[in-house]
Amino acid sequence: MEAAARVPVLIAGGGPCGLMLAIELSRRGIGVLLVDDKPGTTFNPQANATQARTMEHYRRLGFADEIRALGMPPDYPTDIAYFTRFAGHELARYRLPSAREARARVAGLSGSWSAAELPHRVSQKFVERVLRAKAEAAGAKLLYGWRLVRFAEEEGAVSAEIEAVDGSARRALRADYLVGADGPRSFVRALLGIRYGGSSRVPRDFMGGRMYALYLRCPRFHEEVPHAPAWMHVTYNGDRRAFMAAVDGHGEFAFHTQLRDGENEDGITEARARDMFEHAVGRPVAAEILSRSAWTAGHALVAEGFGRGRVLIAGDAAHLFTPAGGLGYNTAVEDAVNLGWKLASALRGIAGPALLESYGVERGALARRNTAYARRLADSLGYRPAPPELEDETPAGEAARREAGAHLEAHARMEFNIPGITFGGRYDGSPVIVPDGTAPPPDEPNRYEPSACPGGRPPHAWLADGRSLYDSFGPEWTLLHLGPASAEPFARAAEAAGMDLRVVSPEAEGLRDLYQRDLVLIRPDHMVAWRGNDAGAAAAVLARAMGH
Ligand SMILES: Cc1cc2nc3c(=O)[nH]c(=O)nc-3n(C[C@H](O)[C@H](O)[C@H](O)COP(=O)(O)OP(=O)(O)OC[C@H]3O[C@@H](n4cnc5c(N)ncnc54)[C@H](O)[C@@H]3O)c2cc1C
Repeated sequence: MEAAARVPVLIAGGGPCGLMLAIELSRRGIGVLLVDDKPGTTFNPQANATQARTMEHYRRLGFADEIRALGMPPDYPTDIAYFTRFAGHELARYRLPSAREARARVAGLSGSWSAAELPHRVSQKFVERVLRAKAEAAGAKLLYGWRLVRFAEEEGAVSAEIEAVDGSARRALRADYLVGADGPRSFVRALLGIRYGGSSRVPRDFMGGRMYALYLRCPRFHEEVPHAPAWMHVTYNGDRRAFMAAVDGHGEFAFHTQLRDGENEDGITEARARDMFEHAVGRPVAAEILSRSAWTAGHALVAEGFGRGRVLIAGDAAHLFTPAGGLGYNTAVEDAVNLGWKLASALRGIAGPALLESYGVERGALARRNTAYARRLADSLGYRPAPPELEDETPAGEAARREAGAHLEAHARMEFNIPGITFGGRYDGSPVIVPDGTAPPPDEPNRYEPSACPGGRPPHAWLADGRSLYDSFGPEWTLLHLGPASAEPFARAAEAAGMDLRVVSPEAEGLRDLYQRDLVLIRPDHMVAWRGNDAGAAAAVLARAMGH
């Protein structure tokens, strides 16, 4: 084997978390080598929803529009619809805007949905391709078909070995940091000996236990079923429950059905898989199966630590969700956003010791919060078995469908209108947040109260010139200068600390009232670090925010 090559950051795993981290680091001039054992980005659709906060981060990096153009056609409805079977009775439908409507509507929204971006319904397989291209364009080196097989922390570095999956080559590396973004069966987490805490395999009628996934092409689906197109289709019956997301709006779908107790995926033939799909549809329909896999729903697991020393874990390696609410992928992306600027600061020598430690503190708390929310959403759907008469063409059947429809409609509002979960994540108690003695707003899943109380997302506003407030922020630190207090001490202290700080005074009606202070310090990951009316303690504030 050749002598060990040196790399600042080695990332194991090129899912959304690893790719986003590669972007965050390489845009900051940090050298990255990412290895992933697959031949390329994921073939399977996987996650289906990019939440609004994730879209805001894609906007910060300049590619939200590219993501919004992906997936279904711009006018394809993104409704969530519930059926006894896809071709049977429609029980409930929650209407949501198409991609084109979302783009047009966002500028007119206020309150809970005051945001730079609305959610976008798009399969992870399309998102990953963009993330890969952005990471490579920023200078990250991506090695597909390679896996991490060994690592150890030694003398201020991490030594590691990577191996081509075909066994043709092996390389030794020395990295300043190693990040395990290597998914649910994380080799990095296992070797560190970090366990998951929380609950696993919670048995439910739905969204608990083994699920069988089919990626399929069924171009005649909408001709065969007598209902308007939707993005998410969910069956509710006493036989076998399923959900199915439209992938491209042209007949490709991601179908997931619950396996019954004692049913083993290894014994499922292609004919049997097709039969499962037809049962969910409720009538024969031609479909081509593109891939099949099995996975477990019902996890609410968070790692007991997010790393040790120079080795960190992120994404599914650090937390595992049940898919209700679509939080797994989005939480994984936000881990990368949080870790990216902190690692870059550590490598540039401007971070104090608490900065990297704060990654696990902040993201651990968020992961526990988000897995608990996903679990509640899964309980609402999965602990309500369908009554036996639901599919009967009788008055009792009709009454059961009405009652089920009311419950499912209320559930859909709870699961798919979640500005509180999306925007309300906070880092209270973090060592690098400077509290101001005010209380944060209540944490509620379906309502978000904009607040500049340090530790949360900066409240959004549209500026007089039509831009999003976030578009006025600097690429790293931002000081919002909204009143008479002098910003000068912050500019001077930032320069002395080697921090890239942009002072901005954007014009928007009511902005000072929204933020309630003259000066507001915003972190590179768009979280409020401090606010006040006096810059006298600027150097101390910046020192704390940088972990000194
Ligand atoms: C069938 C299915 C459906 C899903 N549906 C949803 C959904 O609807 N909503 C939602 O939010 N989430 C969903 N998820 C979960 C979502 O896909 C994950 O939360 C998300 O992919 C996590 O991203 P990640 O980057 O942390 O991990 P991953 O995407 O798992 O990426 C980890 C990568 O690391 C690679 N790897 C592993 N070990 C090594 C190694 N030793 N060396 C190199 N590479 C390695 C893996 O091949 C993989 O590419 C679904 C997942 C599956 C499997």
